[in-house]
Amino acid sequence: MMMMERTQSSARISRLDRMLIMAVVLLSSIFPVELFSNTTPVPKGHDGQYSGKQGQVLVVKVKSEDQATEVNGTFLKRTIPFFREFRPGEPDGYIGLLGIDMQDEPGTYDLAVEVKQGEQSKQLSFNVLVAKENFTVEHLTLPKDKVDLDEKGAARWKAEQEQVKQALVENSRLKLWRSNFVEPVNGKRTGIFGSVRIMNGKPRNPHNGEDIGAPMGTDVAATNDGIVRITVDHIFSGKGVFVDHGLGFYSMYFHLSEILVNDGDLIKAGQIIGKVGSTGRATGPHLHWGVKLNGARVNPYSLLDLPFKSGVTLPTAATIPIPETTSTP
Ligand SMILES: [Zn+2]
Repeated sequence: MMMMERTQSSARISRLDRMLIMAVVLLSSIFPVELFSNTTPVPKGHDGQYSGKQGQVLVVKVKSEDQATEVNGTFLKRTIPFFREFRPGEPDGYIGLLGIDMQDEPGTYDLAVEVKQGEQSKQLSFNVLVAKENFTVEHLTLPKDKVDLDEKGAARWKAEQEQVKQALVENSRLKLWRSNFVEPVNGKRTGIFGSVRIMNGKPRNPHNGEDIGAPMGTDVAATNDGIVRITVDHIFSGKGVFVDHGLGFYSMYFHLSEILVNDGDLIKAGQIIGKVGSTGRATGPHLHWGVKLNGARVNPYSLLDLPFKSGVTLPTAATIPIPETTSTP
């Protein structure tokens, strides 16, 4: 008796299921707008796949034909604002620069992209494979007082960190940078981005930028257009310049002997903003060049490899995108 009831009820449910499935299939073919619902979850990685190493910058593309009001991505809790860019010979669409932090754990993560079009929004999902970079191990011997701060030094360092944090709270919501990035100093690239630093025998924070060796007084150029957010003279970075390029992209230039810009200055790509020096914690004259992309510490040289040779950024947004499935190195 029990058995029969169960059999009958399961047969009823499966008939109902079949009817529901057919109804959904029919409805979605008649009303394709259903695909643009706020609630439908997208299977992870459904819209494409990207891969890169720790410290790299990935160019994520979302094709579009019409106007969208806003396109934002979320990757490892970091927000990636997308911008519209037109490139000759390529489909119209949005581009997001995804920075893989030098200390993001290798693995596969979801990049969720929300495309807003007025009241409606569409969710896209990409797989991002983060591969391990083989960073070098760097042994440094420095005067003890330059490594281990006394109480006064530690307090100063803390205040300086706070000062930078406050200055960078203000950021341009407009994309200020242009197609081409400039190498700030044409010197000897040391390749120590991300290297594990052992100072006087003790492991320290990894090196969060690239060092370029050049003679004292060599011109230092801004890598792109932007606004000088803050100029500093700090215990570790020495004389430094922080440039805001908009949409969460910052570049930093440390150990300068001279700073040639002021806080709030609008600067152009290639503009000389300072001179190479060895101020702060430095063993000799060099430029420490750092880049932060939406909170990720990336290798600044990965900017020079970006495919932005002839792109023109459009001031307004576009449509419902059909995502592209590509992978960048
Ligand atoms: Zn450095």
